[in-house]
Amino acid sequence: RFMVQLLKEMEEYAKENNIPIMMDDGLKFIEDYIKKNNVKRILEIGSAIGYSAIRMCLNENICITTIERDEVRYKEAVKNIKKAKLENQITLIYDDALNIDLDEKYDLIFIDAAKGQYIKFFEKFEKNLSEKGAIISDNLKFHGYTEQKERIKSKNLRQLVNKIRKYIEFLKENNTYQTTFYDIGDGIGVTKKRTDDC
Ligand code: SAM
Repeated sequence: RFMVQLLKEMEEYAKENNIPIMMDDGLKFIEDYIKKNNVKRILEIGSAIGYSAIRMCLNENICITTIERDEVRYKEAVKNIKKAKLENQITLIYDDALNIDLDEKYDLIFIDAAKGQYIKFFEKFEKNLSEKGAIISDNLKFHGYTEQKERIKSKNLRQLVNKIRKYIEFLKENNTYQTTFYDIGDGIGVTKKRTDDC
């Protein structure tokens, strides 16, 4: 009950402060993936206020390392994780993900940060993926813009959408990894190492 209340408060805080948090159907998809694939260790890029990290941790024996570069959001995440009593399971790192190097391996790497940098995040952290692990990327539809045929008027938006399109191409053309795209939430990709045996 306390947890339901806390999550609700976090959803309200996110809404009031314009903080994008993962949509419910996307999160349910990930929670399901965690259960089915016996995921134990997760790396999340983009914690915001800790909402998805807390959701992924619930009912499971899971360890999460999550990275956030915005100080206000990071501090809010620290508070929320304390309230949820999940400090033993969730490690928060306050930094730009592109500045840090991790040695551990993770069964799931969840990319949910600056949309223009997805290829960089992928290339930086693929070495941290366990043999049968997956990289899950969110927002691949970017509110429908990535599939939009007409020219997008705003230059900034157009550049961002092009970067996401490039990331999708990068995933599709990758010889080492295979990606399945799901029309769930704002568009999710699940990327795994290709195996030689089909
Ligand atoms: N995963 C969160 C959830 O569903 O509750 C939402 C994350 S929000 C969509 C993206 C966050 O990534 C923002 O809070 C932003 O500050 C952070 N971010 C963006 N680029 C980053 C980077 N290079 N390193 C660390 N954090 C980054």
